Amino acid sequence: MNLELTEEQAAVRELAADFVNREVVPNAAAWDRAEQVDQGIVKKLGALGFLGLTIPEEYGGSGGDHLAYVLVTEELGRGDSSVRGLLSVSLGLVAKSINHWGTEDQKQRWLPRLCAGDALGCFALTEPGTGSDAGNLTTRAVRDGDHWVINGAKMFITNGTWAEVALVFARTGEPGDPEQAGHKGVSAFLVPTDTPGLTRTTVHGKLGLRGQPTAELVFEDVRVPADAMLGPEGKGFNVAMSALAKGRMSVAAGCVGIIQASLDAAVAYATQREQFAKPIASHQLVQEMLADIKVELDAARLLVWRVADLIERGEPFQTESSVAKLYASEAAVKAANTALQVFGGYGFIDEYPVGKYVRDARVMTLYEGTSQIQKLLIGRALTGVNAF
Ligand SMILES: Cc1cc2nc3c(=O)[nH]c(=O)nc-3n(C[C@H](O)[C@H](O)[C@H](O)COP(=O)(O)OP(=O)(O)OC[C@H]3O[C@@H](n4cnc5c(N)ncnc54)[C@H](O)[C@@H]3O)c2cc1C
Repeated sequence: MNLELTEEQAAVRELAADFVNREVVPNAAAWDRAEQVDQGIVKKLGALGFLGLTIPEEYGGSGGDHLAYVLVTEELGRGDSSVRGLLSVSLGLVAKSINHWGTEDQKQRWLPRLCAGDALGCFALTEPGTGSDAGNLTTRAVRDGDHWVINGAKMFITNGTWAEVALVFARTGEPGDPEQAGHKGVSAFLVPTDTPGLTRTTVHGKLGLRGQPTAELVFEDVRVPADAMLGPEGKGFNVAMSALAKGRMSVAAGCVGIIQASLDAAVAYATQREQFAKPIASHQLVQEMLADIKVELDAARLLVWRVADLIERGEPFQTESSVAKLYASEAAVKAANTALQVFGGYGFIDEYPVGKYVRDARVMTLYEGTSQIQKLLIGRALTGVNAF
């Protein structure tokens, strides 16, 4: 793995860092309190080309490689995990899936709008009764002539209320057919969110990611044309898993951003705050806390960059993506918590950003596969034994 950035990668990282310092960091606390980031940020992310990274230019994308994508995602995660999540879902899970699995018509219809930030996408897999066990989802799509009719509910859907298109996973297999049971009977659909019968309700009261719209989606006889199916019939779970394998790299990159932000804040505070007539940075136990965060930062970053490198080289990367997500998410929780410790009592009030880092980091070990699920994936890759 070459750790030296190309000129292009360095330039996109600088562009992202500058954008985050100007447009995101100064607003993050207010967006968190208001429970909503400024929706105008989406268009700005599009204008800078961030929402089109790795998507071919012929579909409105901005090209770039997966390390460039990771670098931008890290920077957004440093600024505000809510903003980072908008991009990880709309580009990382939805646009990339359309680019990989879509027909020419689907690509032409959705990718230019998603890449420009004229529209957001959401990824609707989780249901009220199926989270980790996503292959047993119960939302059903039934064929009716040249349409599919979808009924069911989806839970905790990021971008849900803002999205123009939902990538929805529904059961199309014949009930009772063992060949189509579980994940084998699932198909994926691109559903415009203004389709009659689709209701979207904001989930309030989140511990973190408060600026980001999270929604419950309810489908009551939602009719979509047959050509709304993404990928082959019965291969929806493959669509979902291929999206999440890369998505986990994106979440992990966001976690690297949280760890970097935690370290920056802790170092700045420790060198300025005085106790016992000297900066707290000169107490060895405080330096230990800073060193612990730094080690986690470097380790997490290298694991994430390795995934990007494997993808670019066309090598298998799925297990390495789980390793990076597991490590970086647990490290982000620890790092944010340690940074709060460095701040003492001031860390506990929202005048300083570290409390928000703790709250935002907490979800990272839960979504896109919990830490327990990542361990089962890694264990299965090591042993060939499915322990789910
Ligand atoms: C803010 C937020 C945003 C989200 N965004 C999206 C989104 O955009 N799209 C989407 O589809 N979903 C989204 N999710 C859902 C998220 O992916 C799920 O919450 C997650 O997969 C866990 O599912 P669950 O909450 O149902 O927990 P459960 O699956 O009920 O798990 C509960 C606990 O049991 C453990 N557990 C479960 N099964 C096993 C097992 N076999 N072995 C060991 N332990 C196990 C889990 O690790 C966990 O600790 C989001 C969630 C949140 C909180």
